[in-house]
Amino acid sequence: MSKKFLYLFKEGHDAFGGDQTTMKNTLGGKGAGLAEMTHAGMPVPQGFTITTEACTKYYEDGRKINDEIKAQIMEYIAKMEEITGKKFGDMENPLLVSVRSGARASMPGMMDTILNLGLNEQVVHVIAEKSNNPRWAWDCYRRFIQMFSDVVMEVGKKYFEKLIDAMKEKKGVTFDTELTAEDLHELANQFKAEYKNQLGKDFPDDPKEQLFAAIEAVFRSWDNPRANIYRMDHDIPYSWGTAVNVQMMAFGNMGDDCGTGVAFTRSPATGSKGLFGEFLTNAQGEDVVAGVRTPMPITEMEQKFPEAFKQFVEVCQTLENHYHDMQDMEFTVEHGKLYMLQTRNGKRTAAAAIKIACDLIDEGMISEEEALMQIDAKSLDMLLHPTFDAAALKKAQPVGKGIAASPGAAAGTIVFTAEDAVVHGKRGEKVVLVRLETSPEDIEGMKYSQGILTVRGGQTSHAAVVARGMGTCCVSGCGDIKMDEENKCFTLAGKVYHEGDVLSLDGSTGNIYGELIPTVPADPNSGYFGRIMELADKYKTMGVRTNADTPKDAKQAAAFGAQGIGLCRTEHMFFDPARIGAFREMICSETVAEREAALAKIEPMQQADFEGLFEALDGHPDTIRFLDPPLHEFVPTDEADIEALAKTQGKSVAYIKQVINDLHEFNPMMGHRGCRLTVTYPEIGVMQTRAIIKAALAVQGRHPDWQVVPEIMIPLVGEVKEYKFVKNIVVKTADELIAASGVALKYEVGTMIEIPRAALTADEIAKEADFFCFGTNDLTQMTFGFSRDDAGKFLPAYYANKIYESDPFARLDTIGVGKLMEMAVKLGKAANPKLHCGICGEHGGDPSSIEFCNEIGLNYVSCSPYRVPIARLSAAQAAIKAKK
Ligand code: ADP
Ligand code: MG
Ligand code: MG
Repeated sequence: MSKKFLYLFKEGHDAFGGDQTTMKNTLGGKGAGLAEMTHAGMPVPQGFTITTEACTKYYEDGRKINDEIKAQIMEYIAKMEEITGKKFGDMENPLLVSVRSGARASMPGMMDTILNLGLNEQVVHVIAEKSNNPRWAWDCYRRFIQMFSDVVMEVGKKYFEKLIDAMKEKKGVTFDTELTAEDLHELANQFKAEYKNQLGKDFPDDPKEQLFAAIEAVFRSWDNPRANIYRMDHDIPYSWGTAVNVQMMAFGNMGDDCGTGVAFTRSPATGSKGLFGEFLTNAQGEDVVAGVRTPMPITEMEQKFPEAFKQFVEVCQTLENHYHDMQDMEFTVEHGKLYMLQTRNGKRTAAAAIKIACDLIDEGMISEEEALMQIDAKSLDMLLHPTFDAAALKKAQPVGKGIAASPGAAAGTIVFTAEDAVVHGKRGEKVVLVRLETSPEDIEGMKYSQGILTVRGGQTSHAAVVARGMGTCCVSGCGDIKMDEENKCFTLAGKVYHEGDVLSLDGSTGNIYGELIPTVPADPNSGYFGRIMELADKYKTMGVRTNADTPKDAKQAAAFGAQGIGLCRTEHMFFDPARIGAFREMICSETVAEREAALAKIEPMQQADFEGLFEALDGHPDTIRFLDPPLHEFVPTDEADIEALAKTQGKSVAYIKQVINDLHEFNPMMGHRGCRLTVTYPEIGVMQTRAIIKAALAVQGRHPDWQVVPEIMIPLVGEVKEYKFVKNIVVKTADELIAASGVALKYEVGTMIEIPRAALTADEIAKEADFFCFGTNDLTQMTFGFSRDDAGKFLPAYYANKIYESDPFARLDTIGVGKLMEMAVKLGKAANPKLHCGICGEHGGDPSSIEFCNEIGLNYVSCSPYRVPIARLSAAQAAIKAKK
């Protein structure tokens, strides 16, 4: 039997035994939701889903819908006509449908939807007459032409929007609802003319031809640039594909007893319980989201549509109880009757996510583990963003108010276009993006903005949804603003604001301030955040450390819950202007005696730094890495600096220049660096060991109840003998100091695993090492054979050609680099059961990489301070997954 690529909404639940995961994988999130709601007897316009497998097949077949799938589609069209009692292109009872994308993971607004498909010149007359509502009929037709042209033929919305604006102006009206049947009829004609003008052919009249073109367009949209960027940002594999849903239309645009809405069972901004959402009368689908008119709050729907509202409230409760999570739903009311169009676990801000998770535990809906699994670990980052200084906020006077669309505090200078936001944002300037409304093209600019302010649109507008997704503050729908986008200015409360003027936005209240209000960092140890972090610690089995070079960073990380330092890079201490002089003297020394003299100047400075770090850690472990970068990075390039160095060294300028010249390397990242420095200049290793051990002794002396155990880490090892050579220097120096002190200080010596050869010979190295720490930045670079600093030039081409789906420097390549890691852990732990292993590359703060680290049995991950909460939750999620 041939493979089944299509399912009626009615079939979906039973065909997969109601298993939500398989349903989602095969039918996509939207299709699974429609099938599930149909199964539960909810009012869903009927239709069918073409599976994600059909999409994958489409790409496998060289972007073609093959004959087998085509035949199945024809079969399901017939079934659908039978169920609905309507027929495509019929002169009595024509069937109109929507064609909707729906991937496994929801990708809001990333792919395309077409509504009112099935219309043509004859059919539009039929429905105009039958319904006695020509305005509606022509509204549907012009919408269909517009969406079909945009989505299927890629003509571009803007041509049609221009025509609408011209028509509104000609008629002297503000809103599309004020256009008459005749106006819309004329618009439909103009649209078709524009279509022909752009494409050189007539708009297709045959509903089935329209349908096939639309289905193919949805498949194609899986590979559009927007979707590709979204997938990369959200770790969604390209291989998943999207399903296509073909669904009978429910009409929210038939008059004032109709409308369309979006609602959440809890607030997606704050998490508070209760129905949140918006409703727009006499409108279709995306009108609410696109900010065409500002919609009414969902609660007002109760007065206008009491029956439908009552039913909707029940549906909401049923859905939330069924899915054990906050639901995000789309619905339409046609002549007072409710139709459900979509349900999914709602996207939410991090603040909402932690509150909802805690509330659902308390309501007995979910377990602690389920609560932890429900939160997007990456999103916790948002909670660490600053908030307004309370006192300053109290004093400030708002100049306007919009809808509190995405919480957070934004203060910066005004820009009017996404491009400007990118330009200024890249320079590190803080900008607030002010727009009439935003569209998907603005996403890049939104990323670079502290906050977003829009004139039109509500809680569920594009700006609001995207801003919440990014954790960026957004105030939407401030209708009081008189916008002049062309001249880059707007008027609010009698004042004109230009580009470069300052503005502050409070995304929790919707308040707008014409001044810069100072901000303060957030606190992760109290409230819902604190509770979730405590739960994370209860379930995680790996430790979480931080990469920190200064006591300030270490303290910050400890406040975020770090259990020690996994990587302290000592070179950062040398770059200090007050120290670089002594360091340069060391580099330019001719004799060991000269070098030792220079190092003697550095030693007390390093010791003081390490004491600061040990103090900041309250007795937690601290892994300190020996000097790693190539020496030439430290030498002076300035003529004046060179002269100064020559003078202190008592040498000629020419001599110093010669030294600098000699340090030149063709490939410094693979040159004289890491442990190679101590092999050539053992006195460097001696000095660093002395500084570390003396600092540890001092701090241990001050805190007898702590157990200070410095972990000395030797970088860039590839051969056990070179490791042993450096280790011997460390041990000899340390043991002498410890013996002289009379304190029983313990210390460890270990290595970074960052050269493939080290991973390959991990069993030999492990016999000599107390710990391994995977330096996955270098390990990735050396395994792939391209450098992190140069990869930016060609990786985009690799993404575009689907060779790589994500940046291997951000998300661990578990297949290649991961294989080396797994092998090193296995070999290492077999050779030395006491060996402990961690990771300290960028990947140590990336959730999917953390999951892998847990799988291969690492003891801890180490990441930058602001990622510590993310790592704690990710580690808990990894442990919970591993238990299953
Ligand atoms: P997205 O995934 O971007 O939300 P959807 O497929 O959900 O896209 O559709 C976009 C809009 O069109 C939604 O607001 C939805 O409610 C509306 N819509 C889709 N199908 C229908 C239908 N059969 N009848 C009425 N409205 C529909
Ligand atoms: Mg939708
Ligand atoms: Mg390295």
